Amino acid sequence: MEDAHQKLDVIIVGAGLAGLAAAISCGLAKHNITVLEAARQLTEIGAGLQITPNASRLFKAWGIETEVAALAAEPSLLAVHRYSDGKILAQEDAFDQNIRRKYDAPFIDMHRVDLQKILYKRAIELGVDVRLNHRILKVDDASGSKPRVVLESGQSLECDVVVGADGLWSKCRESMLGKADAPLPTGDLAYRIVLEIDKITDPELRSRISNPEVHFWIGPQAHAVGYSLRGGTMYNIVLLCPDDLPPGLSRLNGSVGEMQDLFTNWDPILTRFLRQVDSVDKWKLMHRAEVPSWTNIQKNFVLIGDSCHPMLPYLAQGANSSIEDGAVLGRLLSYVRSKAQIPWAIELYESLRKSRSEMIVRETFHQRDAFHMPDGDSQIERDTLFLSQLGKEVDAKFPSRWTCPEVQPWLYGYDAIKEADNAAILSLSKRC
Ligand SMILES: Cc1cc2nc3c(=O)[nH]c(=O)nc-3n(C[C@H](O)[C@H](O)[C@H](O)COP(=O)(O)OP(=O)(O)OC[C@H]3O[C@@H](n4cnc5c(N)ncnc54)[C@H](O)[C@@H]3O)c2cc1C
Repeated sequence: MEDAHQKLDVIIVGAGLAGLAAAISCGLAKHNITVLEAARQLTEIGAGLQITPNASRLFKAWGIETEVAALAAEPSLLAVHRYSDGKILAQEDAFDQNIRRKYDAPFIDMHRVDLQKILYKRAIELGVDVRLNHRILKVDDASGSKPRVVLESGQSLECDVVVGADGLWSKCRESMLGKADAPLPTGDLAYRIVLEIDKITDPELRSRISNPEVHFWIGPQAHAVGYSLRGGTMYNIVLLCPDDLPPGLSRLNGSVGEMQDLFTNWDPILTRFLRQVDSVDKWKLMHRAEVPSWTNIQKNFVLIGDSCHPMLPYLAQGANSSIEDGAVLGRLLSYVRSKAQIPWAIELYESLRKSRSEMIVRETFHQRDAFHMPDGDSQIERDTLFLSQLGKEVDAKFPSRWTCPEVQPWLYGYDAIKEADNAAILSLSKRC
């Protein structure tokens, strides 16, 4: 098998989580990988991320499980509270153990930059050439048999496969569609907050941070989520509420007072956390309309991650599904034995990834509907259903997809490597 291996030149645009996951996966497939990243350095962009078993199982396969565990926090409980008084609507104890038993991989919380640096280091170990401060302008796939990446510097690079992993404001996507294509507002925004335990004196808050759990508070048109990071030394809070940022503005330093006012009558434990905040970022939450294809006609240029499926963070799947994309793509490219097989691998990637990712995007909007109900009859009905399952193993379609027995298994049970292997082997057997 090794003798027949066809080394491909792959250029990945973007060293975010999608790009680095693809770099590792393609690196393990022994291709020549170059990553072009616009940023001068990998800095603390973003905040906490919830990493679910569909992504964490890949860390084991990629040999970074131990490094990830050292910087993660694994929550032992997941609870949903009514916003106003903190009343528990849903609670799963031994959440960590249950998840590991069901999915053979953990549910963990991390700072985005910690994960990005671990992925970066692994990519470098695998021989990936990561070039920072390399902003691309476009991908030209029309002028020859090979796609060409054109950089802002004027340089242009040719390769066998281009992977567009350049995020929400993707230039690769625009090149593929042949037109400008701005992401669409979802109508919501997120306040992202990270607190350090060393700066907090309140003993109850300190104890909550050092004992990792996940807590949601759900209310009219808004919800909040809080969880620990870095082994219980940091706390991440995301507040989700209606978007009031002007059109065209996607991120802003928020006003702490305005943020506290919005959540002023919420559960006192949440407002005590919010009183610790001295600065906050406000992010407009964007999505995109589904497009017919994530690949070009020649099948040598492909989109992954937020460039093709940005989503509401209400199921914490944006990064997880971007990591899945990278894993599937690289694994499929490991089966390529001649350059003529590239279109086969790219088509298979799209057939495996597009429908799943778009289903997750739709599910995030359903989660918003369920979490953001105004007080009234539907909310009372929802809370009655929540409470009917309290203290039991949930056995009904559940308003929180985080523990729903219908949604959680397909979301968390996905094994990207197995999916890619099964599809490749089946497809190759049909061709013989
Ligand atoms: C409030 C909030 C909370 C979230 N919580 C979670 C969570 O808990 N779990 C989860 O899974 N997801 C979460 N997400 C989503 C997650 O952060 C994204 O889906 C994920 O980071 C997307 O990764 P990406 O690599 O596709 O894009 P990005 O992380 O945006 O990376 C794109 C990279 O491409 C580079 N780039 C851009 N343009 C160019 C160019 N022209 N040339 C070269 N390089 C370029 C950028 O500098 C960047 O490094 C959350 C998002 C938000 C807003």
